[in-house]
Amino acid sequence: MTVLMRPKPLDGFKVREFNMLIDGKWTAGAEGKILERASPGHGAVVSRYQAATAVDANRAIASARKAFDDGHWPRMTGAERSRILLRAADIIDERADELAFLDCIESGKPISQAKGELGGAADIWRYAAALARDLHGESYNTLGDGTLGVVLREAIGVVSIITPWNFPFLIVSQKLPFALAAGCTAVVKPSELTSGSTLVLGEILEAAGVPAGVVNVIVGTGPEAGAPLTSHPDIDMVSFTGSTGIGKLTMANAAQTLKKVSLELGGKNPQIVFPDANLDDFIDAAVFGAYFNAGECCNAGSRLIVHREILDEVTSRVAALSAKVKVGDPLDPSTQVGAIITPQHLAKIVSYVKGASENGASVAVGGTAADLGLGQFMEPTILSSVAPDMAVAKEEVFGPVLSVLAFETTDEAIRVANSIDYGLSAGVWSRDFDTCLTVGRRVRAGTVWMNTFMDGASELPFGGYRQSGIGRELGRHAVEDYTETKTLNMHIGPRTGHWMPKEARG
Ligand code: NDP
Repeated sequence: MTVLMRPKPLDGFKVREFNMLIDGKWTAGAEGKILERASPGHGAVVSRYQAATAVDANRAIASARKAFDDGHWPRMTGAERSRILLRAADIIDERADELAFLDCIESGKPISQAKGELGGAADIWRYAAALARDLHGESYNTLGDGTLGVVLREAIGVVSIITPWNFPFLIVSQKLPFALAAGCTAVVKPSELTSGSTLVLGEILEAAGVPAGVVNVIVGTGPEAGAPLTSHPDIDMVSFTGSTGIGKLTMANAAQTLKKVSLELGGKNPQIVFPDANLDDFIDAAVFGAYFNAGECCNAGSRLIVHREILDEVTSRVAALSAKVKVGDPLDPSTQVGAIITPQHLAKIVSYVKGASENGASVAVGGTAADLGLGQFMEPTILSSVAPDMAVAKEEVFGPVLSVLAFETTDEAIRVANSIDYGLSAGVWSRDFDTCLTVGRRVRAGTVWMNTFMDGASELPFGGYRQSGIGRELGRHAVEDYTETKTLNMHIGPRTGHWMPKEARG
């Protein structure tokens, strides 16, 4: 039996109203469209947004273009931009409770987790601030007496930033501070479901001293407000996080004007466990990896690939611990798994479980939606006897559903891990160094955790192989992603080796 925490009704709750930030002004949408967001944990409207159409998106793009082309922001010193980013980080800390509350109430994630994400986000702003002062190119003094080569890193220009609903403040923080550190200007479009904290970020950046027009934040649906940000000729780069399907569409749209794209997409991440692993640690990490953020997480460890020798023990221990996970009211500080983002998404999760059962998988725990009176919730679910070719083993369920698969040899484990289209992350569990490194080097994934899972740091690059994306975020090269490279090829002294003969040149 799952531990269920019934949500309390949001009696007397004041709905928050938001305008958009375009060209330094908080403004209504041109067509007066309004979007409402209901809390997935309570079913009550909590936010009301002015919604952008293409008209507003184009205004925001024009503002970011002007702010870039007038040169004030890109030509500031790295130290000045760094100071502004540090001030922003301090204000994020000051407003962390308000931001965490917005992310919790709009996305359905537990409040304790939302607070943790805010701490991580502020750290990223500080890390990007440090990198702003260290952005540099290269020089070549080895090209002969007559030549000096200098390679500059210049801000790429206007960047559009499109983010999903599952980590609203954290994901924009993996992009925007690095773009700003490089000297870019931006138009940001969060998911229409969870736009609140990104709009508050607009206020924070104004207060920190980011000039008008450098950051514009618009709210709206993907097809209406997002699509212009992927195709408009005045956008130089698109930084997108979301589903692989919309990532492909983004890339196709951007190709029309050959924009640079950075794509952080889906994942179906394996945790491979060998018989010599510390099983106490692994069982906890398996439960955390599967149910953190209700499994609505690109990094979810949604596939356990378990050595057959320990298959029964692992399945029964993970099932026993899963049944103790606290599911329910996102506002309760002890909740571990909150609400599912929309009723439609919950139905999709349930249908994956049903499809797997019909195809021979067994439900070891959970398997159904949890009726808590308000909102929509899913019981932590474990599917055993899953074959590698089942949909539930290959596709992103994006819910608290864990598939257990078996292996006998290391080669087989690696083959199963690599047998899908995604390659975002993976975990390997063994006390044997050779085993960890063999698997770690052969698994096709952007991050491999060894004897841990889903740890992160601002210093460590993050991104996917294959259909999990293109490019990396975070890490010391993150700012460079938002730059162009320019070569200055300089001649020193009298020029030799003329193309035309001396007689012709006179
Ligand atoms: P979507 O791809 O549906 O949406 C992502 C963003 O794109 C939203 O802001 C959405 O707007 C927008 N969008 C939708 N259609 C278009 C369009 N035609 N043109 C431009 N923008 C558009 O993803 P979800 O929001 O459902 O997020 C879940 C997905 O994100 C999962 O696949 C998950 O794995 C992935 N993800 C990847 C991460 C990573 O770092 N690799 C991290 C977190 C999530 P709107 O929704 O408002 O319509």
